[in-house]
Amino acid sequence: MKVTLVDYTPNAEKKIATFAAICYNSDTSKDACARRITKLVDSGHLATLRFAYATFLVQGISRVTSHQFVRSKHLDFLQESQRYVKQNETTFTYPKQSEEILQIYDDAYGNAQMLYNQLLEKGVKKEDARFVLPEASHTSLYVTGNFQAWRDFLFLRNEKHAQWEIRECAELIGHELSQIAPNVFGQYERKTTT
Ligand SMILES: Cc1cc2nc3c(=O)[nH]c(=O)nc-3n(C[C@H](O)[C@H](O)[C@H](O)COP(=O)(O)OP(=O)(O)OC[C@H]3O[C@@H](n4cnc5c(N)ncnc54)[C@H](O)[C@@H]3O)c2cc1C
Repeated sequence: MKVTLVDYTPNAEKKIATFAAICYNSDTSKDACARRITKLVDSGHLATLRFAYATFLVQGISRVTSHQFVRSKHLDFLQESQRYVKQNETTFTYPKQSEEILQIYDDAYGNAQMLYNQLLEKGVKKEDARFVLPEASHTSLYVTGNFQAWRDFLFLRNEKHAQWEIRECAELIGHELSQIAPNVFGQYERKTTT
C-alpha cells in the first residue's frame, strides 16, 4: 500500500482561521489565527474546515478496502476502472495469516487470474471477465475532500474497530494530514510510518 499526498490547500490553518475571523469581526494577525484554529476545532465550529482540502493518491489497496472507502459520502474519488484497464497483471492483498493459510489464498488468486486471462483470450470483454477477479485485487484511486470530510473519515477508520487494511490506509493519511494541519489532525501523527 502506498499513500501519497498529492495536493492540498497551502497554509491551510492560517487560511481557515482568517476566513473564520469574519464570524467574530476579529483580527487576522498570525498570532490571533494560531489561537483561533484550535478554538474552532475544540468548539465544533467545523464548517470552517471546509475551506481547506487535501488530495491523496492511494495505490495497492484491495477492492475490499476501496469499497469501504467510498462509503465516506463527503470524500470524492477517481478510481482505476476494471472496465477499461486490463487486469492481466493484478496484484492482491494477503491477510496476515500463517504460511499454510496464505498458500490457500495464493492458489485462489492465481486461479482467478488464470480464468480472467482465459476469458479475455476467448473474446470476453474486460467488463465481463472481471467478474471472476477476487475482492483482494489491488486498485488505485485519487481521493479528495475538505478537512471536515477527512476528519469524519479518520474518526471512523483510524480507529481500533475499523478493518485492518483501511485502518492502515487511514493511519498513513492521518499522519500526512497531521503534518500540514497539526492543530486539526495532530492526534493522528505517527512517530514512525510504514
Ligand atoms: C467499524 C465499521 C463497520 C461497518 N460495518 C458496516 C456494515 O456491516 N455494513 C454497511 O453497510 N456499512 C458498514 N460500515 C459503514 C458505515 O455504516 C458508514 O456507511 C460509513 O462508515 C460512512 O460513515 P457515515 O455514513 O456515518 O458518514 P460519512 O459518509 O462519512 O459522512 C460524514 C458525516 O456526515 C453526516 N451524514 C452523512 N450522511 C448523513 C445523512 N444521510 N444524514 C445526516 N447526516 C449525515 C454524519 O454526521 C457523518 O458522520 C461500517 C463502518 C465502520 C467504521
